[in-house]
Amino acid sequence: MTATPAIEGWFTTGAQPALVGTRCTTCTTVFFPPTAGAGFCRNPACGGEAFEDVELSRHGVIWSYTDAQYQPPPPYVPRAPYEPFALAAVELPEGLVVLGQVADGYGVDDLRVGAEAELVVETLYTDDQGDHTIWRWKPVVEMGAEADG
Ligand SMILES: [Zn+2]
Repeated sequence: MTATPAIEGWFTTGAQPALVGTRCTTCTTVFFPPTAGAGFCRNPACGGEAFEDVELSRHGVIWSYTDAQYQPPPPYVPRAPYEPFALAAVELPEGLVVLGQVADGYGVDDLRVGAEAELVVETLYTDDQGDHTIWRWKPVVEMGAEADG
């Protein structure tokens, strides 16, 4: 069995996975998801047409989160039966807000606006080709935060 990204080119895998964004070589604005091939800079004040891939920060700050009560659009593949899960919007130091499912085993009770989250890569679904992976946000538990319960 092999593990391959469910979306090619949007994130790296391994022990320190990272999202892959696109950086405009003219104004250095970073975008996610990456723009494949040619295009124009999404910064309206910039006429840049040259871009390079750049790995984004693996840690960000939870900007917003929600319980997903409805099945998301593709490439999400539902488990059967469908189970609601938490989605987090995480702001990266690059200034981007990236939406992602919360890591397995975590729910909205583990999330707090302003708390840190770390990028992880987990299995989205498995078929006869092997595991297909996707990025998720894992809440970073602050040491001692629950000590006084
Ligand atoms: Zn630009």
